[in-house]
Amino acid sequence: MLTEDGAINILAGNALGGGGTVNWFCSLDTPHYVRDEWSNKYGLKHFESPKFAKHLLSAKNLLGVQTSHVIHNKANNVLLKGCKELGFHCETAPQQGYPTGDENLCCMGSKRGERQGMLGSLLYDAAKTGNLRVFYECRANSVLTTTIGGKKKAIGVDAVSRSKHPITLRSKIVVSACGSLHTPLLLRRSGLVNKHIGRNLRLHPVTGVYAQFKEEINAFEGAPMTTVSNVVANLDGKGYGARLEVPSIHPSLMASSLNWRGAAAAKADMLKALRFSLLIVLTRDSGSGRVYSDAKHQPRIEYSLRRKDANHMIKGVEMACRVLMAAGAEVIHTVQSGIEAYHCTDQGVADPTFHKWIKRVKQVGPKPNQCPLFSAHQMGTCKMGINPTQGGVKPSGETWEVDGLYVCDTSVFPTPSGTNPMVTVAAVTYGISQNLRLALARLKRATVDLRSKL
Ligand SMILES: Cc1cc2nc3c(=O)[nH]c(=O)nc-3n(C[C@H](O)[C@H](O)[C@H](O)COP(=O)(O)OP(=O)(O)OC[C@H]3O[C@@H](n4cnc5c(N)ncnc54)[C@H](O)[C@@H]3O)c2cc1C
Repeated sequence: MLTEDGAINILAGNALGGGGTVNWFCSLDTPHYVRDEWSNKYGLKHFESPKFAKHLLSAKNLLGVQTSHVIHNKANNVLLKGCKELGFHCETAPQQGYPTGDENLCCMGSKRGERQGMLGSLLYDAAKTGNLRVFYECRANSVLTTTIGGKKKAIGVDAVSRSKHPITLRSKIVVSACGSLHTPLLLRRSGLVNKHIGRNLRLHPVTGVYAQFKEEINAFEGAPMTTVSNVVANLDGKGYGARLEVPSIHPSLMASSLNWRGAAAAKADMLKALRFSLLIVLTRDSGSGRVYSDAKHQPRIEYSLRRKDANHMIKGVEMACRVLMAAGAEVIHTVQSGIEAYHCTDQGVADPTFHKWIKRVKQVGPKPNQCPLFSAHQMGTCKMGINPTQGGVKPSGETWEVDGLYVCDTSVFPTPSGTNPMVTVAAVTYGISQNLRLALARLKRATVDLRSKL
């Protein structure tokens, strides 16, 4: 789907296991400055506590995150090599499961099961307990509530099956884990009115840079995102900037990402696709948008890239171009309309023609609809807050408006995670699940007390 102005292409996993089933395995920790911001700016003190550090560790163990078996494909070696040449930071990104380097199109799944995703980790563990029941392709319409002593209490979910049969589930506690695009819609359909629901949408907007090498790179082979450079990750000293990473680049995704200079040029580019290496510039956005429902209950997204974030993104583009050149690229392309490819010379980044070209890249910037932007990381649309004026859910994950209704997904992030969100969302929701356990135990005790009094 696209943002309302058509400027940002939104990728999200509509599958059992959500984005975790289709994503690119890159499993980075929540940066310290994000935890600091959530704790000190938003008053959510637990994010700086040793407890959250434990939740991060538990989440990574449950997901099966590892660094010991990582095999870099050629595209990731390009990022490593270019950064090394320039003295930029670059490191191996921990991976969820064991995506190997030799398996073609590992990004599309894994024949041998090395790619664990949510089906091979959290959902598998839940299924082993015997307490998991999955209603596949079932859509939650609304959360059922009752009012006790003037306060709303969640009592179940009204849903519809794949074959359009209505389903009503009764439960003591309800958890919305529909992601940052759908949780706000579900909460609104269920009558919640908190002003933060649907607002504060963060996207980690991404643009790309690609380069032609002499040899074949075959960027779509192997595990896609095994390296990360933080060279421009903290441009404002407050944790906002961009990260350089290597995307999964299935040929269809590559075709939609290349600089459009007409049909003939697109065909010529795709014929050289095996020799292309791509980098993405993933921007931690300080600006935000909103998500709301259309008449068919589908999400609509309003989002404009803030100037500060556009500047950070373009700084990242400059660094990505330098990295590709230092790694031995012959020709470098940004995806901005009107920017011609740069043909590298023996002088490398010292060539004055490169500086002139980069100046134009910066002047043109990432203008809406003239520079393809993507988002695979939607966050923040029902943020945690220490009171209802500051957020849609409590620090425990329970909504301020309905007792027993919890949110367990990226929508509770107060601001973007900065790194790819899977590990952060797993850690945050691990913490929320501990609160759920306590809440259920309290409910059980209350029921026993009541029975003993009758
Ligand atoms: C292509 C791609 C690559 C990515 N790569 C990485 C990566 O390498 N590393 C990383 O850390 N992150 C990555 N991400 C991001 C990461 O996967 C997401 O941030 C994460 O999955 C978000 O988790 P979530 O729980 O908020 O929501 P989601 O994972 O989006 O889950 C929401 C689920 O709820 C379902 N749903 C929605 N509405 C309803 C309803 N009404 N009733 C029932 N079900 C509903 C959806 O179908 C979906 O299955 C990637 C994402 C994509 C799309």
